[in-house]
Amino acid sequence: MQLQPDTHGLWAATAPSSPETSTLSEAVETDVAIVGAGFTGMSAALHLSEAGIAVSVVEANEVGFGGSGRNAGLVNPGFWLPLPDMIKALGQDAAERMIDELGHAPTVVFDLIEKHDIQCEAVRAGNLHMAHSANGYRELVGRCEEWARRGAPVEMLDRSTAAEKTGTKIYHGAMLDRRAGTIQPLAYVRGLASAALKSGAKLFTQSPATAISHDGERWTVKTPGGEVRANRLLVATGGYGEGAEQARHSTVPYFYFQCATKPLSHNILPEILPDKNGTWDTHPVLKSFRLDAEGRLICGSIGRFDGGGNLHKSWASRKMRGMFPQVPEESWSEAWFGRIAMTNDHLPRLKEIGPEGFAIYGYNGRGIGPGTVFGRAVANYFKSGDRAALPFPLTSDAHESFVGIRGGVIEMGARAFHTIDGWL
Ligand SMILES: Cc1cc2nc3c(=O)[nH]c(=O)nc-3n(C[C@H](O)[C@H](O)[C@H](O)COP(=O)(O)OP(=O)(O)OC[C@H]3O[C@@H](n4cnc5c(N)ncnc54)[C@H](O)[C@@H]3O)c2cc1C
Repeated sequence: MQLQPDTHGLWAATAPSSPETSTLSEAVETDVAIVGAGFTGMSAALHLSEAGIAVSVVEANEVGFGGSGRNAGLVNPGFWLPLPDMIKALGQDAAERMIDELGHAPTVVFDLIEKHDIQCEAVRAGNLHMAHSANGYRELVGRCEEWARRGAPVEMLDRSTAAEKTGTKIYHGAMLDRRAGTIQPLAYVRGLASAALKSGAKLFTQSPATAISHDGERWTVKTPGGEVRANRLLVATGGYGEGAEQARHSTVPYFYFQCATKPLSHNILPEILPDKNGTWDTHPVLKSFRLDAEGRLICGSIGRFDGGGNLHKSWASRKMRGMFPQVPEESWSEAWFGRIAMTNDHLPRLKEIGPEGFAIYGYNGRGIGPGTVFGRAVANYFKSGDRAALPFPLTSDAHESFVGIRGGVIEMGARAFHTIDGWL
């Protein structure tokens, strides 16, 4: 499939074009085969090809078709999960390693952008985690203390400072994290793909892996037009797996939509996010808002458009009017949504699917930094053969329970909330 306005919206409209690719129509021999051209697959391909390792990527649709081309573009450190919960789930050593690596993930992303001159509207002004209530503020104080203890440049902002930094008075305060920033996500993943191609990687689009097998010596990844034979394999299909069984992962479907205005006028722009921070909040039905490089206001929240689109879009209009009365009343010029791959414990999955074959997914809505860092880590493992290079311990039981029911409950909750919220 190609990128569509209702799934890739503003990002497809404003990203530099994708590098030229072709469909796989022959048998290709390579060292590493990668399935999926999102942040994870393209970061792995870039780091492998830069090390002189032959790598071929097959992508079922287009570069950035999955979460990587649809997301909110907030480059945040860490995961959603508070740090003490990560330690409880992973154990002290594995958790501290992941916390350290993901704490530096924005630096890895912004360094790659600089190194490869990726034109993706990168702004590293810090992001704001907004407190929607007094409890939300207390939760953020806890998060802030945990990161500050590890030397991270984080600070709590009181109510009036948070209002100055955003242009809205609805929040109780915020945590500013100076490591973070924003990007145009589709432009970033296309930039990674261009850089990987320049380093010698091969990339085949419109080439779904329909069967993946290992014959005791090598992997074969079959597509409708050809096949890739490889010594090593990385499956990086996130929440968008299709085709071959190994590419389809069980995750809780959690949909998130975004709407963007036309570029705001120069009279009102200085009052809204004057420092160009990205934001998201502590509300259980969370929302995010940020600007793009042209001064469009982009607002997002939980929900899908196939079935509930008008309800979610009306809420977004009402809510933004309440938060930013200075923004002229107008319908959204772009609106799109995507599927986040959630897991039971909100931690990612690393599965060994055969000899020198791995699948990595389940970033729970925090995939720009993790996808980039984990793709690089798997590439480092393939380069060195050292298991310690893998980003975190293999997931032994990767089965998620009641995914359909849980996904349905999340969507119904978001619809109920978006029906009643924002009228005052
Ligand atoms: C709406 C939304 C908002 C988000 N906001 C943020 C955010 O602000 N910050 C953040 O850090 N993260 C965010 N995320 C999460 C982030 O986008 C994802 O975690 C990340 O994109 C996952 O990257 P990936 O490369 O692992 O998978 P994906 O980007 O999903 O890529 C998987 C690719 O695999 C391909 N594929 C599937 N099956 C096959 C097959 N059989 N053969 C070949 N190819 C196949 C798909 O077509 C797809 O292109 C958001 C996600 C969504 C959906």
